[in-house]
Amino acid sequence: MSDPLDRSTHWPYENGEVGAFSYQRFGSPTVAAAEAALSELDGGTALLFPSGAGATTALVLSFLQPGDTIALAEGGYYGTGRTFEALARWGLRVVEFDQTGAPPEDADLVWLEAPSNPFLTMPDLEAAAAHPARVVVDATAATPVHLRPLEHGADFVFHSATKYLAGHNDALLGVVVCREPAAAADLLAFRSRTGIVAAPDPAWLLLRGLKTLELRVRRQTQTAEFLAERLRDHWIVQTVRYPGIGGLLSFDVTDADAARIVETSTHVIVNATSLGGVTSSIESRSRWEGDRVPPGLVRLSVGLEDPEVLWADLEQALTATASG
Ligand SMILES: *Cc1c(COP(=O)(O)O)cnc(C)c1O
Repeated sequence: MSDPLDRSTHWPYENGEVGAFSYQRFGSPTVAAAEAALSELDGGTALLFPSGAGATTALVLSFLQPGDTIALAEGGYYGTGRTFEALARWGLRVVEFDQTGAPPEDADLVWLEAPSNPFLTMPDLEAAAAHPARVVVDATAATPVHLRPLEHGADFVFHSATKYLAGHNDALLGVVVCREPAAAADLLAFRSRTGIVAAPDPAWLLLRGLKTLELRVRRQTQTAEFLAERLRDHWIVQTVRYPGIGGLLSFDVTDADAARIVETSTHVIVNATSLGGVTSSIESRSRWEGDRVPPGLVRLSVGLEDPEVLWADLEQALTATASG
């Protein structure tokens, strides 16, 4: 059965009393249905936000004070660091650290990424759980199909639901899943007051996408494994990063020019940013991240196309760098 889509911004009082839903900023049935599904997937209490970056903003403003320090996994999603930069003048401090080891002692919040985008490292969840600060795991690229961080001692799971959870490049959304119901209540109160809340339409698309999440991610993982192996054997490719789970991988060619040729020479794989959709996409990351990444780093988000077709497309794009 299809889920109902309720676009109302208000609902009648029940005998003069506020019912389960009153005003959309406080909560709405379609968003609540998506949150129930997400709560189940990660084993906590989920709250939906209008984007991943919006969820990041709400989470840190809700739980941190001016002067507090976030220990951020280095080599993680570029945009998360940019969001924190935008909040620096409100007193938020950030230190980057190698998430394969223990977080720095003075952190008030630990922010990990499993696996990191685009370096594809996995965090040491045990070392982070031993730290007294609260731990957030951005599991956008792993998805709950491969990792449930709350079971490894994390306090919050974060997802850009724009990616695998919605899965079709047509909904911008973010999720925070809380281990403690009290923390979820605090975050819900903050969300209601600040208005950083998801709308019903993208929530409905997310519900639609979640029905095939496991099928999509398992197939994307299989194809990514296959492509990573082929890429490792290719003479033009220098480094391949793939952690063995999920549909995201990155590899290096000699330089920025070669990366440009690869990304503009594919025909099936779309030359575009973002990840986690049913259509494969590829891009050189230095256009966004500058010298934070090797100039020849190419990120590939594996979709649902035939694996052999994808490899043929990649192979001819790699070969084009040799003749160009
Ligand atoms: C895309 C992404 C985000 C940000 O999410 P938006 O929905 O684009 O705001 C955060 N973390 C990771 C790992 C991402 O890939």
